[in-house]
Amino acid sequence: MPGRTLEGHSIRQKADIMTEVLIIGGGAAGLSAALLLGRSRRSVLVIDAGAPRNAPAAGAHGFLTRDGVAPLELTRLGRADLAPYDVRIVDGTVTGAERTDRGFRVSLADGSVFEAPRILVTTGLVDELPDIPGLGERWGKDLAHCPYCHGWEIQDQAIGVIGNGSFAVHQALLFRQWSANITLFLNDSMQPTRDEHLQLAARGIGVVTGAVARVHSTDGSVSGVELADGSEHGVQALTVQPRMVARSRFLTGLGLVTSVTAFGETIDSDETGLTAIPGVWAAGNVTDMKATVLAAAQGGANAAVMINMDMMAAELADAVAAHTAYPRHHTA
Ligand SMILES: Cc1cc2nc3c(=O)[nH]c(=O)nc-3n(C[C@H](O)[C@H](O)[C@H](O)COP(=O)(O)OP(=O)(O)OC[C@H]3O[C@@H](n4cnc5c(N)ncnc54)[C@H](O)[C@@H]3O)c2cc1C
Repeated sequence: MPGRTLEGHSIRQKADIMTEVLIIGGGAAGLSAALLLGRSRRSVLVIDAGAPRNAPAAGAHGFLTRDGVAPLELTRLGRADLAPYDVRIVDGTVTGAERTDRGFRVSLADGSVFEAPRILVTTGLVDELPDIPGLGERWGKDLAHCPYCHGWEIQDQAIGVIGNGSFAVHQALLFRQWSANITLFLNDSMQPTRDEHLQLAARGIGVVTGAVARVHSTDGSVSGVELADGSEHGVQALTVQPRMVARSRFLTGLGLVTSVTAFGETIDSDETGLTAIPGVWAAGNVTDMKATVLAAAQGGANAAVMINMDMMAAELADAVAAHTAYPRHHTA
């Protein structure tokens, strides 16, 4: 049964007008790559599920000329920028990908299939939070992880740091830049060293031992942290270090290599974004968990340039081979 394509062509017809680059994920990284590739006169297909990582937040901060823009407004603007170019966007979710003798075949949840000789993966990551009742609801609101993104919005408030591993001390010391009222809840997840206790005390950061049992909210705002012993501590905002896991499990068919650290999982790629699989690049949070929106956009742009260079090299090799076999007359 032929799969559905953009203009109603069968897959066979679609393969005949094969897209040169298929981008999985249309957030900052994917749309930025699509823009550069489109401007390089490449045909591009972006498949996007429409849920950027920062979607729960009211605004994306620190993006030059767009400070505080709503995350979905930013992707709407990014899509609009692509209109003049040979870039098509399909709203959908990729569920699998495999290598073929012509490149790669990608399957979507609705049964569609697309093929391309080169793929860029820009699917971002999933933030895994500690399993504490009441915590997840605050994500992107008054529960933040990145002070550069949301520290300004919660400055001078009573900020609780929910311990989720050894990074918590650094997080508490970092958020101290934005408020003098910081409490570190160890949450039985780590034990500061003597030096760290000294540092925390020197910066006036309170340390609370014991497991966190629940996060309380009042009138739509976080209001308290309840410990397992029943005691409750008032807060106005929270921060926690999530485990950050690349959205790439559905791509196991490609044989991508991933790295696992204490912070999460990412797809391995070199500085150009090229993964272990020739023809497959990765950019943005899926390969760089610390990338902000601006850095993800830069990663996408960087990968796009390298993909274009790779295509140019292949086309040049073909041209030289053809020229050697059948020398052309040069008139110019
Ligand atoms: C709560 C929160 C607030 C944040 N605030 C800021 C901020 O203020 N400023 C800032 O610079 N950074 C902020 N960040 C970080 C920011 O979200 C990332 O830097 C940015 O989203 C990375 O862009 P990306 O393109 O790599 O991934 P994403 O933006 O996550 O985009 C990935 C895209 O791929 C799509 N996708 C995923 N899987 C599939 C699939 N299988 N098939 C098709 N499409 C798929 C998704 O739907 C999404 O549209 C915040 C993060 C969080 C969690």
